[in-house]
Amino acid sequence: MVEVEKKSFAIELGPLCNNHCVFCVQAGQGGSAQKRLDQKVLADLDRAEATGFKTVTFVGGEPTMHEGLIEWIRLARARSFECISVQSNGRRLALKNYAEGLIKAGLTHVEVSLQGHHAALHDYHTQLAGSFRETAKGLLNLRALDVHVGVSTVITRSNFRDLEGIVAMCAHVQAAAWHVAPSEPIGAALDDFQRIVPNLNMTVPYLSRAVARCMDDSLMPYISGVPLCLLEPRYRAFTLDLNKVMAAKRAAIDSCIECVERQRCSGLSTEYLAHFASSRLSPIDDNDLERKSNEGSFPFAGIGKLETL
Ligand code: SF4
Repeated sequence: MVEVEKKSFAIELGPLCNNHCVFCVQAGQGGSAQKRLDQKVLADLDRAEATGFKTVTFVGGEPTMHEGLIEWIRLARARSFECISVQSNGRRLALKNYAEGLIKAGLTHVEVSLQGHHAALHDYHTQLAGSFRETAKGLLNLRALDVHVGVSTVITRSNFRDLEGIVAMCAHVQAAAWHVAPSEPIGAALDDFQRIVPNLNMTVPYLSRAVARCMDDSLMPYISGVPLCLLEPRYRAFTLDLNKVMAAKRAAIDSCIECVERQRCSGLSTEYLAHFASSRLSPIDDNDLERKSNEGSFPFAGIGKLETL
């Protein structure tokens, strides 16, 4: 297995996408012209290489919607990067020739978003009938290819009770890692908060069971966007700070002032607290610390930038 550097450079390709996810942070933003993207990708690769990054990740929107992706991966492969990753909804990977082409060009890692372990649940989130069938086929294609696969799930009010089933599907497709994060109240999820954003206190027991299932199935779990004090102490080591977008929206909470983990913790947003004002947080002291970390073994990319390119 390729060792992944902690630092991963995200090559943002803009919001163009063929799904319509209910929690999309980029809802309503436009796409970018291919020519402009060719120039941007080249400039990003130059910058990533000059800065010493060993990993680059193509993020969207949906990177596979850009016909230039295979060539961009080839260009990355020709440079000094050890890991080249794509964040994808996996639908186009249902075409085996296409998936093989990406890997032949030099792709080493794929992060596939999966919101449910059956069609009704996943398609509800993508708002696109048939998307589960294609994503599942894409994951099965990847299972047979020489590439490292991680799965990302956004927790909503509709799937938080099904996280264990999603982990079972990750194990079935032999994914190496699972990244899970609650839907953040921005973009489409802010417009439809009551339907989308989960109550974290209700979510955490199901999340704990799903993480325990990961341990049983040798799947590396990663959690982001959940306050550390809400997690069972034994699972705090599996947190990743990917959510740079939400860092600017973090609420000032009295309980956090005394907490030794406040720098590492995502906390809660003001929008979340406006709806769930009764959220109870418990500052962590030195005696509660679990210092080991899983950060860096799979290059999950998290939420992309919100502005158009
Ligand atoms: S008390 Fe605040 S900073 Fe500490 S873990 Fe909880 S939410 Fe995070």
